[in-house]
Amino acid sequence: MDYQLSTINYQLIIIGAGPAGISAAYEAQKLGLNYLVLEKNLIGNTIYNYPVGLTVFSTVNELELLPNTLFPAREKPTREELLSYYTRFVLENNLNIQWEEAVTKVEQIGENHFKITSEKGEYEAATVLFAFGAMQYPRRLGVKGEDLPKVHHLFRETYPWVKKHALVVGGGNSAGEAALFLAEEGAFSTLATFRKDWEETDPKQGCIKHWVKQPLEQQLEKNCLDVFFLGRVIEIRDKDIVLEDENGAIETLPNDVVFVLIGSDADLTMLENLGVETRNTKYGAVPVYNEETFETNVSGVYVAGHFTEARHIAGAIEVPKKIIPKLAAKLEKGKAV
Ligand SMILES: Cc1cc2nc3c(=O)[nH]c(=O)nc-3n(C[C@H](O)[C@H](O)[C@H](O)COP(=O)(O)OP(=O)(O)OC[C@H]3O[C@@H](n4cnc5c(N)ncnc54)[C@H](O)[C@@H]3O)c2cc1C
Repeated sequence: MDYQLSTINYQLIIIGAGPAGISAAYEAQKLGLNYLVLEKNLIGNTIYNYPVGLTVFSTVNELELLPNTLFPAREKPTREELLSYYTRFVLENNLNIQWEEAVTKVEQIGENHFKITSEKGEYEAATVLFAFGAMQYPRRLGVKGEDLPKVHHLFRETYPWVKKHALVVGGGNSAGEAALFLAEEGAFSTLATFRKDWEETDPKQGCIKHWVKQPLEQQLEKNCLDVFFLGRVIEIRDKDIVLEDENGAIETLPNDVVFVLIGSDADLTMLENLGVETRNTKYGAVPVYNEETFETNVSGVYVAGHFTEARHIAGAIEVPKKIIPKLAAKLEKGKAV
C-alpha cells in the first residue's frame, strides 16, 4: 500500500466514545496503535441520556469491558453506576479520547488515507472506525404540534410531572419504562401504544421487558396508569392531545407533557459520502460490512456498535475485541505510519 507517511497523524481514528468506541480504544492501546477517539458529547453519552436512576436490563458480564471489574450495589447497575464505570475506565487507562468534539466530515484522500474534520480541527488517519451509535435522529410522529416545547423525544426524569397529565407514545421498553416511572411517581400517566406491541412477548421483537410489563400491569390495576390502544396521534395542542384509537374513534385527552419514544436512527451520511454501501434491515438502513472484520466495502473504513447488526452493549464491546487485532495486522502488513 502506498501511504503518504509524513502526513498521516494516526493509524486509527475512532468516531464515538460509547461502549464500542471505548472498547476499540482499549484494544488499540493494548496493541500499541497510534489512535485517537473523537466524541461529540460526553464519554458514554447515550448512557448519560438514559433516565436518571434507571436500572439497566443487561447483566454485569454483558456490560463489562474487562471481566470482574463492574460492581453494582444490586444485581444490575444503574445508569449512574454504568456511566461511572465507563468514565473511570477511560480515565484510569488513560485512553486517548477528545470529547465535546463532533466529527463533521470524513474524506478519502488516498489509498488507506483519510482526512477527518471535526468542529475543532483536522486529522489524517490510515483507518477510520465509525462507532457513533444510532441515536442521532430520534424518530418523530410527524404530526401537528410536535414542535411544541412540551413535546420531548427523550425521557430523563419524572419529578417535573407529578400530578400532571403525561402521555408516552411508543411500544418498546423505553416507552414502557417512562410510563411506569411517571405512574409510580404520581403523574397521570398514559401509555399510547399499538395493541400488538402491548401484547407482544417475544424479546427479539423489541417488546416491553416482562419486568417492566408486570409493574405496568399493577399500576393499571391500581388506576395509576392508562393504556390507550392507538390508531394514530392526530394533533398535539397546548392543553390537550387528539388521538384516534384502534377502532377509529377520536378522543381528546387533557395533556401537559408528551414523550415520543419510538426509536431513533443513525446518520449514515458520512459513511455514504465515503462510498460505503448500505442495506435495509428490520433495524432500518445499516452499512454493509464484512462479518469477520467489520470493514466496509471502502478499504480502511470500519464500523462497530449499535448502528450495525451487533446490537446492544454486549455486541458493541465484543466486536472491537475481535476486529482491532485484525485491523492492526492489516496496518502492519501495509506498514502504515
Ligand atoms: C433508555 C435506554 C436503555 C438501554 N438499556 C440497555 C441495556 O440495559 N443493555 C444494553 O445492552 N443496551 C441498552 N440500551 C442500548 C445501548 O445504550 C446501546 O446499545 C449502546 O449504547 C450502543 O453502544 P455504541 O457504542 O454502539 O453507541 P453509543 O453508546 O450510542 O455511542 C455512540 C457515541 O458516538 C457519539 N457520536 C455520534 N455522532 C458523532 C460524531 N459525528 N462525532 C463524534 N461522536 C459522535 C455519540 O455522542 C455517542 O457517545 C439502552 C438504550 C436506551 C436508550
